[in-house]
Amino acid sequence: MTTKTDILIIGGGVIGASTALFLTRAGRQVTLVEKADICAGASHGNACWVAAGYALPTAAPGVLGQGLKWMFDSGSPFYIKPRINLDLTRWLWHFQASCTDAKMMKGAETLLRLNGQSIQLFRELAAEAGLEFGYVEAGLLHLHLSEKYRKAGEKEAEIMRGLGMNVISLDRDGLEELEPKLQEGVESGVFYPEHAHLNPTHLTKALAAQAEKEGATILTHTAVTGFQKDGGRISQIDTTKGTFEPQEVILAAGAWSSILAKQVGAPILMEPAKGYSVTVKKRSADQGPTRPLAVDDSKVAITPLGKDHFRYSSTLELAGFDPSINPTRLAVNKKALQAVLPDMEVLDEEAPWSGYRPLTPDGLPYIGRSERVSNLIFATGHGMLGVTHGPITGKLVSEIVTGQEPSIKLEPMRPDRF
Ligand SMILES: Cc1cc2nc3c(=O)[nH]c(=O)nc-3n(C[C@H](O)[C@H](O)[C@H](O)COP(=O)(O)OP(=O)(O)OC[C@H]3O[C@@H](n4cnc5c(N)ncnc54)[C@H](O)[C@@H]3O)c2cc1C
Repeated sequence: MTTKTDILIIGGGVIGASTALFLTRAGRQVTLVEKADICAGASHGNACWVAAGYALPTAAPGVLGQGLKWMFDSGSPFYIKPRINLDLTRWLWHFQASCTDAKMMKGAETLLRLNGQSIQLFRELAAEAGLEFGYVEAGLLHLHLSEKYRKAGEKEAEIMRGLGMNVISLDRDGLEELEPKLQEGVESGVFYPEHAHLNPTHLTKALAAQAEKEGATILTHTAVTGFQKDGGRISQIDTTKGTFEPQEVILAAGAWSSILAKQVGAPILMEPAKGYSVTVKKRSADQGPTRPLAVDDSKVAITPLGKDHFRYSSTLELAGFDPSINPTRLAVNKKALQAVLPDMEVLDEEAPWSGYRPLTPDGLPYIGRSERVSNLIFATGHGMLGVTHGPITGKLVSEIVTGQEPSIKLEPMRPDRF
């Protein structure tokens, strides 16, 4: 069976669902295909942050050197699985080339613009009746257990202040005012008041459901298996549930986008960067943090998830598509929890989760029209910030499709830049 559609979106994560809603609202006939269920990928188990203050790209001076040192430590937060792989080698080469102060600052400008506009859109979405996703603006508290990370946190705070962010340095008394039940030994921290958090699964499902309510067709358990092209454009898309003839195709398949991009003849550089999380059911009302915490020394995020749960997460592994979970790393994450919060010895934990961040070499997403395939638009590569950038990505893609001036300059996010 062949179905004609105006727009076909591939992928039902936060990016695909946001794009479906914005394009439907722009009056387009939208079909979204998802190979599993809505929110089956990275959008499900992440750290839940709308990270307004995270504007320094993953590619920063010194990161690769630190990563190479950590490679031999199975409990480290950053790991590259040694292997011979041409795509990974090219990715690492471009990653290293992006790790300069100048490129980091240029990247930060774009990420800050995306953050700022997304926060605005989150506020509007959260105020809509029927869109429930637990959006809370309670800031983010970075905690430092050692002098080394206090200095690093202060340095980053200084850069962010220079970019116009409100960042507050705190001593123990200041920390206790925000998070009264901290363990001894946590003596300093940095507070980013503009940060928010939410339930990412509720968000993604709510966006998809709202898009469907407003006219989009959402097809789950429908995997894209191939593309037919005609004169430099996609003429047909084959899926496990039939063939589609779209006018425009939006590639929003998260870490899997690079596989599909290669198939369609518009390759992009992107690596699946695996991370872990564990969701905990609170044993008492005051177990867990009152607001999002970042333990800088071990790179562990701890976030309240509704009234009854919290989640801790960490790790960035470049190990290809391998969902396995390293128990040593999980134990390190739990130790970080115990180092900063009391009452963490006995935890009612769900099974650990792993997911793949779609990571580009320079830490900026790919948002824009392909230069190789005329009716293909990329909306992927959001790395550590896909939840944060969901709504603004949806808006930017709708502006591209409808030929409006994009709200943010797209040039730095050009899909063909590597
Ligand atoms: C541990 C961890 C913590 C994180 N914390 C945060 C955070 O606090 N804040 C933040 O902003 N970001 C965070 N992120 C990053 C964020 O989760 C991702 O950037 C974001 O979820 C990517 O969304 P996506 O829609 O592009 O991809 P995904 O959510 O992975 O969705 C892609 C979808 O495409 C589908 N798909 C794949 N192939 C096909 C196909 N052939 N046909 C049809 N469908 C297909 C998949 O099934 C999947 O559902 C974190 C990530 C991790 C791993």
